[in-house]
Amino acid sequence: MIRPCLFVSLSFIAAAFAVDEPALKPVFGTQRYVEYIPGELPLVLSAPHGGLLKPKSVADRTYGVVDSDANTQDLARRIAAEVKKQTGKSLDLVISHLHRSKLDPNREIKEAAQGDKTAEKIWQEYHSYIEQAVKTSGARHGRVFFIDLHGQNHKDIRVELGYMHRATDLAKPIAEINSAEFIKTGSIELLSQLNPTVPYADLLFGPESLGAMLEQRGFQATPSPRMVVPTEPYFRGGYTVDRHVNASANFAGLQIEANRIRLRDSPENRQKFAEALVQTLRIYIPKWLKVEL
Ligand SMILES: [Zn+2]
Repeated sequence: MIRPCLFVSLSFIAAAFAVDEPALKPVFGTQRYVEYIPGELPLVLSAPHGGLLKPKSVADRTYGVVDSDANTQDLARRIAAEVKKQTGKSLDLVISHLHRSKLDPNREIKEAAQGDKTAEKIWQEYHSYIEQAVKTSGARHGRVFFIDLHGQNHKDIRVELGYMHRATDLAKPIAEINSAEFIKTGSIELLSQLNPTVPYADLLFGPESLGAMLEQRGFQATPSPRMVVPTEPYFRGGYTVDRHVNASANFAGLQIEANRIRLRDSPENRQKFAEALVQTLRIYIPKWLKVEL
């Protein structure tokens, strides 16, 4: 009888300590196919397409995109390390280790796992970790910024910032872009609510938009003052941002699609972008989301 009570007490003490000292060690899901590193900041980062593992026990996907986003896992870890270096604290990081030919976490479960039971389980774990990250961070800070990190290799070399608006939407008249109807279709609706006197178009491509700030640090981006309407093809954001970003829950965010040439192609370039992005976020997030980073 004594042992179970002692066990319960010790668990309780451990849990109590955990509140004061966030666990920063990685947590892994089934067979270590998903990695979650809990953090302490109002910033959550996910890397769905940088996985390298192709276990035989998980069936190959037979339709949809099966190519990985090269070096995005490394880029995500560099961004996390740079956040730690610049702020002294850690962001929350969620990584899929399965190659995209086995699982695409940025699709609904049917296309993502294509019926493979293990892949379905990993998909659930991946999204549960993101949910846990944004909820925990939201409870701690009130508001959270979420970034889903990808890589593209489009002809026009630029970082694509996906706020869930299509290129054709961004080509609409400014008055329409600034309308309540338009704003609620985007992933930074919360920033608009927090800054009601700022036109939504300014948040998307004004002089203090994320695109503008990245361009000031040497990385061409769209939408931005230089390129308000992205040339096609352009990735506007996908399943993950759509699922996890929610203004009513105080979450804002976007999909960042990093170009390969001059950004993902060498460790030096990835490091330069990680530094530029974190410098940018340390201005952007306090200014628009009104939480410190
Ligand atoms: Zn991707």
